[in-house]
Amino acid sequence: MITGSPRGTSDIFGQDIEYRNFIISKAKELFKIFNYREIITPAFEHTEVFDKSIGDSTDIVQKEMYTFLDKRGRSLTLRPEGTAPVVRAVIEHKMYAENLPLKLYYIENMFRYERPQKGRMREFWQLGVEAIGSGQAFIDAEVIWVLNALFEKLRFKNLKLLINSIGCTKCRKEYIQVLKNYLSPKKDKLCPDCQYRLEKNPLRIFDCKVDQCRQVIKDSPKIYSYICVDCRQHFNQVTDFLKTLGISFIIKEDLVRGFDYYTRTIFEIISEDLKSVQNALGGGGRYDKLIEQFGGPDIPSIGFAVGLERTYILMKQLKLNFVIGDNKKIALVILMDRSYQKYALSLIKFTRDNGYACDLSYEIKSIGSQIKWAEKNAYDFVIIIGEDEVKTDSCTIKDIKKFTQYKLSWKNEKEKIFKIFGS
Ligand SMILES: [Zn+2]
Ligand SMILES: [Zn+2]
Repeated sequence: MITGSPRGTSDIFGQDIEYRNFIISKAKELFKIFNYREIITPAFEHTEVFDKSIGDSTDIVQKEMYTFLDKRGRSLTLRPEGTAPVVRAVIEHKMYAENLPLKLYYIENMFRYERPQKGRMREFWQLGVEAIGSGQAFIDAEVIWVLNALFEKLRFKNLKLLINSIGCTKCRKEYIQVLKNYLSPKKDKLCPDCQYRLEKNPLRIFDCKVDQCRQVIKDSPKIYSYICVDCRQHFNQVTDFLKTLGISFIIKEDLVRGFDYYTRTIFEIISEDLKSVQNALGGGGRYDKLIEQFGGPDIPSIGFAVGLERTYILMKQLKLNFVIGDNKKIALVILMDRSYQKYALSLIKFTRDNGYACDLSYEIKSIGSQIKWAEKNAYDFVIIIGEDEVKTDSCTIKDIKKFTQYKLSWKNEKEKIFKIFGS
C-alpha cells in the first residue's frame, strides 16, 4: 500500500474542481475585459530568482522554500510566488521592448514549506496579474479594481480592502533608521528571528507571528507617516481614483506584506467570513525597482495574487446560489444486448460530432439497473437501444428528470434529438 499524498498537498476533484474552474472562468473573463494576457512560467527557477527578490531575511526565503540541487549540482527552487518568475521572463525575452505597460496574468501552483492548516497548503494555487512598465497611480487603482471586481463577481460580501504605502527606496531608508532607533532598546523582548531581522531588515519584524514581537511592534512608528512628498502624492492619487471607482478601502498603516521587493502602494483583501486565521484572499503591491534589480531597465510595476483554495473554501462556506459547473445536458446510451454496439456507435458519433454530451453504458445489465445508475451519476437522459429499436432503425429517449419519453426514427428525424436535448 502506497502512503497518501505528501503533507500539505491535496488531490482536487469532484465539487472542488467545479468551484475552482468557476473562479478561473470568472477571472479569465475579467482579465480579458481589462486586457491582460496569460503567461506560464516554469514550476522551478534558479534559486537566486527568489532569494534576490523576495529578500533573504524573509520567512519565505529563510524557512519556506523547496530548494534542491539538481543532478549537476545547480540550486533550483520550486516557485513560492508568481511575480519574480514573471519578471525574470519579461527580462529574458525583452518583452519590455514592446509597448508598455505589459499586462500579464498567470494561474499557477506555488510551493511553500509552511505548517499546513485550513486554507494554507504546501502546494497551493494562485491567480495573479502583473502590470509592468507604468508608475502612474492610475494603474495602481486599475490593478486594485481587477482584484475587487473578481470578488464582486463571486458576490462576496464582508470584505475589507486594506491599503498602505511603504514608500520608495529613498524614504524607506530614513524610516528604517527611525524604526531601528525605536526597537533597539527593546531588542531583548524580540524573538531570536526578530533580533536578527532588527540588524538585517527591521521591516520584516512586522511579519512576525510571535505574540511578544507583535506587542513590541504595535506602538512603533509606522512607515505611512514617514513617506516622502512624492510617495504621499502618489498614494493620495491612488485613493482618489479608488473613491471615484466606488471601491471602499481602509488605510492600514502597519500593513507591510512579506516581500522585500515591494515599494509604495501595497494592498490586501481580507474576508471577515473566512473563519480560519488565514483570512487574506489576495493582495499585492508595487515593485518599482525589481526589474532593474534583476538587470533589466528601470521600469516600475505592480501586481497582485489571489489564493484559489481560500477563495473556493469561502464560496463553499457562503453557499451562494451559483450554477457551478457545466449545465449542458448529458445522455447515457444503454444497450439491451452487446450486439447493438455498432448501431449505438453511429448514434453516439452523430451526437458527439454535433457537440452534445453522450456516453455509453459499457456493461450490459437490466434496463432498470442501468437507468438507476444513470440517475445516480447525474445523467439527464438515457437513450435505450433494444431489439425493437434496431429493427425499426430508431431509438427511445427517456428524460429521467422530467419522466418523459420519446421515440425517434433514426433514418428520418435524427435531428430531433437535439431539440429534446435542448429542452
Ligand atoms: Zn518616497
Ligand atoms: Zn519575532
